[in-house]
Amino acid sequence: LALLDELQRIENEQGRVRLRRWGERTLDLDILLYGDQIIQNERLTVPHYDMKNREFVIVPLNDIAQDLVLPEGEKVADLVKAFENHQMHKIKNSEKIDRT
Ligand code: AMP
Repeated sequence: LALLDELQRIENEQGRVRLRRWGERTLDLDILLYGDQIIQNERLTVPHYDMKNREFVIVPLNDIAQDLVLPEGEKVADLVKAFENHQMHKIKNSEKIDRT
């Protein structure tokens, strides 16, 4: 909870404005995993409730931790198979991001 407080402090500091749920945000900081812990309380669900279904979570996670096994036993290397045709690519340091 202390980590969540800190992440929310940073979000607020960056001027996050909640216009609508699931809407555009300035910054969104979530706790995906916390070691092997399974946490379920009023403020926190860890592992993050939807991380397994999100390409933008699982593909990069597999890049950095392909041997990782989630607390409930799923292997990241297996979960990534659902996103075989993903269009994600690593941004090189020299690559400019087009925000238009
Ligand atoms: P959102 O900013 O829309 O992702 O939702 C933030 C809310 O989700 C916060 O108020 C948290 O209390 C709650 N929450 C539940 N689980 C998590 C998590 N794993 N990481 C971040 N926020 C979480």
